[in-house]
Amino acid sequence: MSEAAGVITEISGWVVRARPAIPLALREVVLVGNERLIGEVIALERGAATIQVYEETEGVAPGDPLFATGQPLSIELGPGLLGGVFDGVQRPLRSLAEAEGDFIGRGAQMPALDREKLWDFTPALEAGRDVHEGDILGSVPETPALAHPIVVPPGVSGKVSWIAAAGPLRITDVIARLDDGRELTMLQKWRARVRRPVRERLVPDAPLITGQRVLDTFFPLARGGTAAMPGGFGTGKTVTQHQLCRWAEADVIIFVGCGERGNEITQLIDELPRLVDPRTKRLLAERSILIANTSNMPVSAREASLFTGVTIGEYYRDLGYDVLLLADSLSRWAEALREISGRLGEMPAEEGYPPYLSSALAAFFERAGRVVTLSGESGSLTIITAISPPAGDLTEPVTRHAGRFVRTFWTLDRQLAAARVFPAVSTRASYSEVPAGVKSWWSAEVSPQWATTREEAMKFLEEAALIEETARLVGVDSLPERERFLLRLSDAFQEGFLQQNAYDANDACCTPARQMTLLEAFMHARDEGLGRIANGAAPGVDFAALQRMKTEPSS
Ligand code: ADP
Repeated sequence: MSEAAGVITEISGWVVRARPAIPLALREVVLVGNERLIGEVIALERGAATIQVYEETEGVAPGDPLFATGQPLSIELGPGLLGGVFDGVQRPLRSLAEAEGDFIGRGAQMPALDREKLWDFTPALEAGRDVHEGDILGSVPETPALAHPIVVPPGVSGKVSWIAAAGPLRITDVIARLDDGRELTMLQKWRARVRRPVRERLVPDAPLITGQRVLDTFFPLARGGTAAMPGGFGTGKTVTQHQLCRWAEADVIIFVGCGERGNEITQLIDELPRLVDPRTKRLLAERSILIANTSNMPVSAREASLFTGVTIGEYYRDLGYDVLLLADSLSRWAEALREISGRLGEMPAEEGYPPYLSSALAAFFERAGRVVTLSGESGSLTIITAISPPAGDLTEPVTRHAGRFVRTFWTLDRQLAAARVFPAVSTRASYSEVPAGVKSWWSAEVSPQWATTREEAMKFLEEAALIEETARLVGVDSLPERERFLLRLSDAFQEGFLQQNAYDANDACCTPARQMTLLEAFMHARDEGLGRIANGAAPGVDFAALQRMKTEPSS
């Protein structure tokens, strides 16, 4: 790596051109200039290489050397990821800041995972055993929240001739030797842009319960599924994402903070790991990983960050865990793609985005899924992306293309947020293709009546919306009693079911059973009230009691 592999000929911001002296590969990681800034070869033509550099290129000059690594952008995988804060190309931001002060120097090369830390390894098998990819060699307690199985990497198999005894080991120490001499460590590497292999892909048809009523009941997300959450500033995106991080039934949370304004990212880095995990009553950091693009990093690192995140997500999935990846925001990521494409002089398509916006999104979303891992366990990777459509326009390219790849679409509504109705999920502009398996899950685990009660509630909401429109024209008082009743009940439903206060200990998370109890209570009140009205009586529904139910401690 110390021999120069070429010479820099041209610098234009973070795009650098070079004349290679040895053959380089497309997507190979190279080190640029004497400071050895990290970059990736993104185009090769007629003896010239175009490189996107993941750092500021100030000071790099034509004639400076270029170094090859022979490696594509690879992600380090192993114990030590949990609780970590990394940048878009997996540089460990916290350790870098400790080592170099708050300003992270360029070309600062520090491996993603700590090489000195000792992990308490326990072997799971003895020498003499034949092992195949995915087989468990042993495990370490990565954090109090999560055990980390050490598995045979994809593509490797053989007879174990030696395995380390129980005790403290570093991630680069040899933990097993195969009879062909190959040595295995706890550290693995994987190409960020390549899917990790699995034994089988399953239909993602069980729900990922989030504890949020409007989401679980009306717009469910499948475990291993994909969701998009468009919403403008102030519509509750951050609070909703925090809620999902805390309450969603996932083992590992990966948050990719993708180029939002610098201070928002700083706030996230500060806040997210400090959230208390309701499951363990310890810090959420023990089972979460943050990938953050700081504002002093070029957009190229932002583009890479989604793939860094999803690769780590697949890795924990492959260890048999349910992983939830949240990305905020897909819009900023797509802007990075647009800027890179512009710098390369590519022909733009819609609104300046490159024509491959859609296939780039596909390459990301297709990595979600529920699988049988190489070890034969089940694992899943669920992806939720926040989108910030300019002016709330849901027809703009990023929202529209993302909509093609996600099964669940939660629209955060500005008007609801302005009226302080949270979560501001619009029941009219959101949708979810509820897989049959989600219905059978609710039917088996919660109530056989779930699907029909939910349908009825949807119809009730639709009818109430129509009545509301009429009421706006003619006034509530001129509506027939039946319609006035439905309107009043729908207000109560909004408050007593759809709204959920993230800051109320009794309301922040609602179990599926309780969601069903509340839903049934409302539908029962509707039927009773309508029955009494039909008989010429007053509806006799205690709306206040219905509204209170959600915060009453469950019996
Ligand atoms: P965004 O990230 O979209 O700009 P935030 O998530 O910061 O918006 O939300 C703005 C404000 O809305 C929050 O400070 C909070 O007061 C309120 N809010 C959002 N969601 C909820 C919720 N589920 N429960 C209570 N308050 C909420």
